[in-house]
Amino acid sequence: MSSPAGRRTDLGRALCVITGASRGFGRALAVEVSGLLKPGSALVVAARSAEDLRTLQADLAESEAGRAGLMVQRVAADLGEQQGVDSVVRACKEAFSEDIDHVILVNNAGSLGDVSRYIPSFTDMAEVNSYMSLNVISPLCLTASILQAFPQRPGLRRTVVNISSLCAVQPFPSWVLYCTGKAGRDMTFRVLAEEDPDLRVLNYAPGPLDTAMMRDAISTAADPTIKKTYGDMHAKGEILTCEASCTKLIKLLLEDTYKSGAHVDFYDI
Ligand code: NDP
Repeated sequence: MSSPAGRRTDLGRALCVITGASRGFGRALAVEVSGLLKPGSALVVAARSAEDLRTLQADLAESEAGRAGLMVQRVAADLGEQQGVDSVVRACKEAFSEDIDHVILVNNAGSLGDVSRYIPSFTDMAEVNSYMSLNVISPLCLTASILQAFPQRPGLRRTVVNISSLCAVQPFPSWVLYCTGKAGRDMTFRVLAEEDPDLRVLNYAPGPLDTAMMRDAISTAADPTIKKTYGDMHAKGEILTCEASCTKLIKLLLEDTYKSGAHVDFYDI
């Protein structure tokens, strides 16, 4: 549907997949997006916490979208494992119907990693592999599997969003896992945009958010400057709400004018 000015006012009859939807930004996005899905849409939400996903599903069922019949499918799985990714893909195939005109995948799930140490302490390949498995490999393999499951066809739009970070483009001392993961993840989606001009691909950096990840970052960061910067922002109330950042992401998705593969930061908009 479009407004008189020609701007979209909804995301279509969509299959929307949001990883890391049990809390924080992913949960807020699931709530906001559900109000923009046309009847007949399906929302697949994934994270490890089955309980938090159940609560989200119950909240959505009571919302306007829920009352209008939005199908919400929960997948409680560890996305750092192949079986976790496979179970999300299975749920998407089950939720898909021929009426769907838009597939939206939001790769949001992520972890901070240990920011209490500097590079010389990262000698254990298993530790680094495990971090990269969730934060770099799983979004790549999930995206690949979704694109394979729902190939291009006339009348089907496909949008892939990577929840990125300032850390994808700026080095933060003591955040080697996080910065390396976010930079690698951005590049995955830049390559995807180059490979397939029919896709809409967005790397969205949501700004500093008031979530468990931010609290963890402030309390554990080894680097005193980073710790102080975010600690001061928190004290001054300058950390963003997830809802404020979701609003900007949704504006980008509805306007749909960003360059595919671009890295767009909350503060750019
Ligand atoms: P939270 O830590 O609050 O939430 C992370 C989400 O990812 C949770 O739903 C968590 O669910 C899920 N998750 C974590 N590990 C796994 C796993 N192994 N398998 C499946 N799901 C998992 O983080 P935020 O909401 O703050 O972050 C969301 C995204 O935004 C992340 O990609 C983050 O890097 C990015 N970001 C955050 C910023 C911030 O200031 N907070 C700033 C810039 C970017 P569960 O534990 O139930 O599995």
